Amino acid sequence: MRTKLVAGNWKMHGSLATNAGLLQAVRDGTTGKAEVAVCVPYPYLAQARAVLEGSAVAWGAQDVSEHAQGAFTGEVSGAMLVDFGCRFVLVGHSERRSFYGDTDALVAAKFAAAQTAGLIPVLCVGESLAEREAGVTGEVVTRQIDAVLANSGAGAFARAVVAYEPVWAIGTGRTASPQQAQEVHALIRARFARDSADVATGLRVLYGGSVKAGNAAELFGQPDIDGGLIGGASLVAADFLAICAAA
Ligand code: PEP
Repeated sequence: MRTKLVAGNWKMHGSLATNAGLLQAVRDGTTGKAEVAVCVPYPYLAQARAVLEGSAVAWGAQDVSEHAQGAFTGEVSGAMLVDFGCRFVLVGHSERRSFYGDTDALVAAKFAAAQTAGLIPVLCVGESLAEREAGVTGEVVTRQIDAVLANSGAGAFARAVVAYEPVWAIGTGRTASPQQAQEVHALIRARFARDSADVATGLRVLYGGSVKAGNAAELFGQPDIDGGLIGGASLVAADFLAICAAA
């Protein structure tokens, strides 16, 4: 039985003032039935730790350097994230892939660096609208996963999470239907099963892309959907907590 996980991705939103209430409300409203995490911007990791330490809510970051340390101006290492108590880190979010040139190979290196530091990477994969319309969703998602499998091996996914996020559904208000999402989630699990049945059975595959309180329960009710990666709705405590309750 896989414990559901709901992770918020705050993206580049927030301030010390607004975060304080949001973090406290998420802490107070989390029941502990599903696992809950928030991935906050780097400067707010200390604040997240101060509010969430000792609670049922974990915290993490939205990206990590592929390097352990050194002359890499502007980068943040996995060890630094661990220093701030992070449990999770997103790697390969579509906004990193499309705006910052994170290639499959770079994402694979970031995934490995995160694990070496002791973090649980949340590997984000997903197709663009053009790719879906061209009928290559399965190929795109498999290619993105295969790059990480080639570098880290299937065993690494015993300590990782995958998030399926169709790019056309992120921040657009357009959600994949539960059937569309389930189809890709099943494909993802089948890809892992080719390498390791145990890893495939235990792997949590989250869905992300305009998840709201109103559509979360049906999405999370699909057999291969193990929770969600939540962008916009994670910025409003009541919305995020309602999604967590649906999990
Ligand atoms: C995301 O940023 O990972 C995401 C899923 O965003 P949204 O929920 O706003 O679509």
